[in-house]
Amino acid sequence: MKDKIKTEFENRLKHLLKTKLSSGNLIKAINVYAISALSYSFGLIKWSETDLDALERRVRTTMTSRRYHHPGAAKERLCLSRTEGGQGVIDIHNLHHKQVENLRRYFYERADIDNRYEILVHVDRNYTPLNLNVIEFQPISQIRNSTDVIDLWKQKPIHGKYPHYLGLPCTDKEASTIWLKKGELFPETEGFIMAIQDEVISTRQYQRAILHQDISSTCRRCHQTAESIDHIINGCSTLASSDYLSRHNNVAKIIHQELAFRCQFIDIKTPYYRYQPNDVLLSSAFKLYWDRIMTTDHTIMANRPDIIWIDKLNRKGFLIDIAVPLSSNASRTFAEKIAKYVELAHEIKAREKLKEVRVVPIIISSTGIFAKTVTEELKNIGCQQLIHEISKSVILSTCRIVRKFLQQS
Ligand SMILES: [Zn+2]
Repeated sequence: MKDKIKTEFENRLKHLLKTKLSSGNLIKAINVYAISALSYSFGLIKWSETDLDALERRVRTTMTSRRYHHPGAAKERLCLSRTEGGQGVIDIHNLHHKQVENLRRYFYERADIDNRYEILVHVDRNYTPLNLNVIEFQPISQIRNSTDVIDLWKQKPIHGKYPHYLGLPCTDKEASTIWLKKGELFPETEGFIMAIQDEVISTRQYQRAILHQDISSTCRRCHQTAESIDHIINGCSTLASSDYLSRHNNVAKIIHQELAFRCQFIDIKTPYYRYQPNDVLLSSAFKLYWDRIMTTDHTIMANRPDIIWIDKLNRKGFLIDIAVPLSSNASRTFAEKIAKYVELAHEIKAREKLKEVRVVPIIISSTGIFAKTVTEELKNIGCQQLIHEISKSVILSTCRIVRKFLQQS
């Protein structure tokens, strides 16, 4: 029976992985369609811990074979919920133990009122997975809880950085994992960004330090420093004016378009990658500037924020500046932006006779982490509904940057 069930489970899994489902729908389908082939047998057929491990490994290897899960990525992520930064596959161990526990409870409850059940409880000396004769047997105690799994993930020297930043008190976890919760990426892209977050991409530094290959770890493009994943996604001088800039501009375009639409400068929205912002948009109620140098009476060095938005009716101004740094630099970048534009804010406040001018730093890390301060800032400009679009655009850009980089030998 076990072999039959395993075969059915594997067939269903393979079948699903051949479909063109988005990552979120694929995982739902695995949970509902493939894993249910197993769960009917839980509590009836004896599955050992080793058996359950093998089933879980099967999910992982099947997903790896289609590049939906990187072989070097943290395996803890596979069964962690998507709101915790995982992929959200049902934990087969936990499902098994819960089901056994539920069935045991059922038999004990019935045994109180029905003599036949009482007899069954008495004679089941480990003949069935329920092991009813042993009252102390508690399968539920073996359940892995997500806090322990996250701790395991965090403790890993290479994989642990991303969960560390995701778990910081200043991080908005809900915003930072919204791309996973929505699950709109291709499964392969989702697997790829997770490998980037887990820092298991085959960079030269990884090949040298982890795979012990005899090659130089210097960056293949700028030849200046070690080619780490952080270097590729944020630090390579050869990408600064092209790929990093376009990743940054995509975020700016999403926000600009939303403001332009709300202020009725445009009637219809286009996908952000096709949107071309106008440098200056003026109406009786609003002013909206894109990447424009503001001339001031005395010299101010920082005079070119990405977006300036002035609401004449409410006499408020916003200097919006975007950055996509490494997770480790995000909070510092936020503070730097505020300090950088404070002088310009004063100047514009006086000149436009406004009540308030606010510096709005929109900082999202290149692997998709939002700080709580940033989601607050997005709320201040009425753009909190853009969090998903912003994070998706950053993640897709980061994936594109790494793919393109690795193609060059
Ligand atoms: Zn470089």
